[in-house]
Amino acid sequence: MPGSVAPPSLSYELYPPVNREVAESVYHSIEQLADTSPDYVSVTYSGTPARRAQSLALIEHLVTQTKLRPLAHLTCVGESAQSLRVLIRHFIALGVRGVLALRGDLPQDPQGWRGEFPFARYLIELIRQVEDEHAASLAGGRLGVGVASYPHRHPESPSFEHDIEVLLGKQRSGADYAITQVYFQPEDYRGLLAAARRAGVCIPIIPGIIPLNSLRRLNRLAALTGVQPDPILAHALQSATSDAERHRIGVRWAVDLARAAFDDGAPGLHLYTFNDHRGSLDVIEQLQLPGARSTLAQSWAAHSGA
Ligand code: FAD
Repeated sequence: MPGSVAPPSLSYELYPPVNREVAESVYHSIEQLADTSPDYVSVTYSGTPARRAQSLALIEHLVTQTKLRPLAHLTCVGESAQSLRVLIRHFIALGVRGVLALRGDLPQDPQGWRGEFPFARYLIELIRQVEDEHAASLAGGRLGVGVASYPHRHPESPSFEHDIEVLLGKQRSGADYAITQVYFQPEDYRGLLAAARRAGVCIPIIPGIIPLNSLRRLNRLAALTGVQPDPILAHALQSATSDAERHRIGVRWAVDLARAAFDDGAPGLHLYTFNDHRGSLDVIEQLQLPGARSTLAQSWAAHSGA
């Protein structure tokens, strides 16, 4: 169907490397993840000049050095409409065809400038406008625009129900699909899906899952996202006596969540890699996703010298 956008069935989220040394290890991870044939590799974004440059450099690496499709995160907080236009045009010129439209986290300083767009839905509308202006270079095709969704109430939101209305608004503004914030229990995703469908959200909602291999990471994630650590997972990670055991616990938890989400009708899987590709690869191996695992064994053999 002309203009239709297939939802990603498998995507990985990467942080742009902060220096050359980290870049080498991220590029190595990318090579290994590539062998699982993901639909997208998403690249996180932050509006500070240094972080923006790092995101753009990683996207450029993906486009020029790999066969992977980048999914460029873009945040509108603290940005002018004009600077966002320039970035979206730049993405299109680079060959990026997938954008995750986000507001971003508000500045710590309450007096800090929040930018021209208070909410992500305005960014979606801007992306659609720029897309129309570039219809010729897109050959009539469209950008795949994803958005964030929340199995737990967003920290600034008055209620979970309000978040569902916000998601509906994003759909009306032109979002093609949503990716969830991290969550730790199958019923979190199930509840989001049911509430969203009841409210009229019909876009695919992809579960965002993270294999966590340490309590420190779990707590750091909670601080970043506002999602409370699951006490059973926290206890298991704390009680484990070796890194290998913690790794196994994190992978097992992520696999169980993904299986439950697929049972609930999830149209794909987004793995937050935290740039720790080993956990994500183990999740994929255990899930035996069609099209992914067959090449994975070869990849491991090639990279491990087996
Ligand atoms: P919005 O949808 O705009 O919502 C923000 C808040 O405003 C919510 O509380 C919402 O309820 C409220 N709201 C929205 N619209 C209205 C309205 N019309 N009226 C009243 N209230 C409203 N952050 C980064 O900085 N970089 C990243 O790369 C990044 N990647 C992410 C990837 C995923 C998959 C997810 C789930 C999150 C990501 N984030 C990232 C975090 C995200 O930027 C934050 O969660 C941010 O606080 C909210 O972004 P949003 O796009 O959901 O905003």
